[in-house]
Amino acid sequence: MTMPDQREATEARLWPDPVDGEFLAGLRGVVAAHVAPDADRVDREDVYPVAAIKALAQAGYTSLTLPVEYGGQDAGFARCAAVFEEASYASAAVGISLITILQAQTIVRMFGSDSLRAAVLPQFREGLITSFALTEANHGSDIRSLDTKAARHGDQWVLTGRKSFITSGSAAEAYVILAETERGVSSFFVRRDMAGVSTEKGPNAATFGLRNGPHVDLVLQGVAIPLDHLIGMEGKGVRQAVTTLDFSRTVAAAISIGIARAAFDGALRFARDRIAFDRSVFELQGIQWYFAEMLTDIDAARLLTYQAAHALDRHDQIARFSSEAKLMASRVATETASRAVQICGAYGVMESAPFGRYLRDAKAYEIAGGSSEILKNTIAKRLRDLHPA
Ligand SMILES: Cc1cc2nc3c(=O)[nH]c(=O)nc-3n(C[C@H](O)[C@H](O)[C@H](O)COP(=O)(O)OP(=O)(O)OC[C@H]3O[C@@H](n4cnc5c(N)ncnc54)[C@H](O)[C@@H]3O)c2cc1C
Repeated sequence: MTMPDQREATEARLWPDPVDGEFLAGLRGVVAAHVAPDADRVDREDVYPVAAIKALAQAGYTSLTLPVEYGGQDAGFARCAAVFEEASYASAAVGISLITILQAQTIVRMFGSDSLRAAVLPQFREGLITSFALTEANHGSDIRSLDTKAARHGDQWVLTGRKSFITSGSAAEAYVILAETERGVSSFFVRRDMAGVSTEKGPNAATFGLRNGPHVDLVLQGVAIPLDHLIGMEGKGVRQAVTTLDFSRTVAAAISIGIARAAFDGALRFARDRIAFDRSVFELQGIQWYFAEMLTDIDAARLLTYQAAHALDRHDQIARFSSEAKLMASRVATETASRAVQICGAYGVMESAPFGRYLRDAKAYEIAGGSSEILKNTIAKRLRDLHPA
């Protein structure tokens, strides 16, 4: 019989370290202490995992890619992806809580004025929780025109409108939002405690997967913000948001890899222990083929994800590789989670088992953060750019 410590060693050998072992050991310790124990409750009760996020922030994992001068570590994106993968192995809800932080941080880091960067970026090291609010009731994949408006009045911008379906919105202390101005769509940094900002839990706030608290509506009623809270140039918001999504799609892929690995390991443990027809389920060749296919798919998606992470560091075909990675990893996660349920039989379907959570989280990530169809459009557009007609 396989002992638990032997099992852990087997699982470690199954998944080669994508970054240095010392970094991973520290990370896994924090995840085991602060993320894993609460994962089922966060999903069941649909609450924001505040304690887990604050613990990860305190250990420096929410500000890894920021420059040192802003409290970051100037780390490469492979380490960043490893944080998302390991956290999501335990809880994809924590993964998407981390991603809305990375998105707000990335757009301010890349496009914000010096004064906005100096005011905002060091706060991430202290655990600032943020949301990235693009979607509106009438605008999802297409954000080129918006119903939320911003107008300049003297030395302020005044924002009015409603953003929908905002991940982490229930706990966010600040939001990056897109609004339409005279010169097109622009992006703004808005703090929760500014006058006129509120959140509402609409009828569509609860999702069946990626449950990190209600996906609230953000309501802006004549919110006056300083001029430097316009992020970068007026009218460039869509370009900035798309660039930011190109960055975050790679770590979104890492979230899906975390889900897929968790489903695979859970199914493998079950198949080794479960006896049917006088042998373990794992000894049945039909079941072994399932595992062989799953392992191949996860390995391939994982390689693509870390290739995309290195492409981020090199600024090389970012949109292409991040879209490919998310497209493939999200599909592999859904297929793996579904297969894991099948392998585990009735146990796979039980609410007390984690496989339903894996399946729900995996499927939701084929839509959130750029649907698979939109990703294919992006990849095809890059292909057309490389090979113009
Ligand atoms: C769990 C979850 C969390 C989310 N969190 C956030 C958040 O934090 N912030 C935020 O701003 N938004 C968030 N969203 C919203 C998300 O970004 C949108 O759902 C997504 O952009 C798709 O928009 P839509 O739902 O309006 O679908 P639509 O745009 O209405 O599309 C409907 C269908 O048509 C397809 N489609 C649309 N355009 C094309 C095209 N050109 N070619 C081919 N197919 C196309 C889509 O892929 C989809 O299958 C979240 C969504 C989910 C599910």
